[in-house]
Amino acid sequence: MKKSYSFDIFNKFFEITVTNKDDSKLLKLRSDKSVYFIADLESKLYHEKNCCWLDMIPEESIQECGRYPEKKGFISCQDCKPFSGYYRILELDKQAKEYYLMKKQDSKAEIIGKALEKICQGFGFHGKAYGGVIDVTTALGEWYFMYNDKPIKLRHKNNRRGLGYHIQHPSFESPVDALIYIRNHEYDNIERAIKRIGTE
Ligand SMILES: [Zn+2]
Repeated sequence: MKKSYSFDIFNKFFEITVTNKDDSKLLKLRSDKSVYFIADLESKLYHEKNCCWLDMIPEESIQECGRYPEKKGFISCQDCKPFSGYYRILELDKQAKEYYLMKKQDSKAEIIGKALEKICQGFGFHGKAYGGVIDVTTALGEWYFMYNDKPIKLRHKNNRRGLGYHIQHPSFESPVDALIYIRNHEYDNIERAIKRIGTE
């Protein structure tokens, strides 16, 4: 197989004629359907199988380079612009990992939510966790806070006063601290009510 190429470099005209034997390594690689791209070991570029640069590369320098030549350190040729999709796969892989981490974060929040509900139960309150928020209902009032926040700001609605939610100070480092605060707050109020009503 004979091929001719002409170049115009710095106003000088070059013509190269390349002859490939029919049993050449290049021809075999080109006709092999399992070969996606052909790489040049010298330049570290990989090419489309029909790229004309391949005809000018010494036979010992060309080789098959797999489905994703970038994995083996080859760079896409600027002329034939082969596209293996490798970087697209890396990007998708990154997105998949981010999604996985997000889901893991979600399930972690869910586990914490369930644990906090159990603590509420132990204190004799009703606790309901959803989407990072826990609602705590006691005989005296309603509370809620975002249990992933740091610090945690507690919000409290007192049934007796009939006011809306207000931020209850101080803030807390952990959701368990916040629940203990609610417990102490409610127990104190109950104790005070017992004393007050007991003497009436
Ligand atoms: Zn090329």
